[in-house]
Amino acid sequence: MKDILLKFRNEIRINSKVGEFEELLNVIEKTIDNLHLQKPTHPLYESPQKERNEDKYGTLGSNQCICCMKPMKEGETLMVHMNTDWLAVRNDISEQDTVSLTGADSQGSFEIGNSCAKKMLKEFIHNNIIK
Ligand SMILES: [Zn+2]
Repeated sequence: MKDILLKFRNEIRINSKVGEFEELLNVIEKTIDNLHLQKPTHPLYESPQKERNEDKYGTLGSNQCICCMKPMKEGETLMVHMNTDWLAVRNDISEQDTVSLTGADSQGSFEIGNSCAKKMLKEFIHNNIIK
């Protein structure tokens, strides 16, 4: 849905100088974000570079971004909590409450690089979790 909006937005940028459309798109985007926030889970961002990076770096087991498979950079500490349906769990939901609130067990937390974390709503990112 967001991809479609982004495409639509770029089309409008190219074809129009009227700010009204931008305004309307911002409202729609905000509404979609709010709808997502009412849900306990959100699909994990998957980088288009993931497969290429996996070939390049392999599966390191740790210190690797789950979205793009790039090694984590020095000082990067963000994590994403996933359930067994492979959906990101909202960060106000504890591991114990994961089953009852998301319908699937906790699968623990995974490292996510800063740039990939920006592709997710911040409510689905943890600043730091004990590994
Ligand atoms: Zn990444």
